[in-house]
Amino acid sequence: MTGLQCDVKNCANYRDNCCCRPSIQVEGCTAHGCDQTYCSSFQEKDGYTNDCGCSVPNTALDIRCSAKNCVHYRNEKCSASMISVCGSTACRKDETECASFSLS
Ligand code: SF4
Repeated sequence: MTGLQCDVKNCANYRDNCCCRPSIQVEGCTAHGCDQTYCSSFQEKDGYTNDCGCSVPNTALDIRCSAKNCVHYRNEKCSASMISVCGSTACRKDETECASFSLS
């Protein structure tokens, strides 16, 4: 499990600088920098529900990831103890990014 902080306030899964989902998927299979990654579990906020039915902030998640050029990448998962997902003004998933991507 990886600790996660998130500032994507326009996401239906966001609450209190955390994510309510049990797991997320980060994409960036050809990424060489943070701005080439994104959280594909982003869900546009419309009302108060999200598609996983979770509403409690989850501080440690299972993070699936395709960013194989990152030092934290292990077998399609993130091995970091803590990451940050950023996108305080994001309205689409591709406007978010994993701020903890680090080129291996
Ligand atoms: S952008 Fe991703 S990490 Fe952040 S709240 Fe939404 S689903 Fe969770």
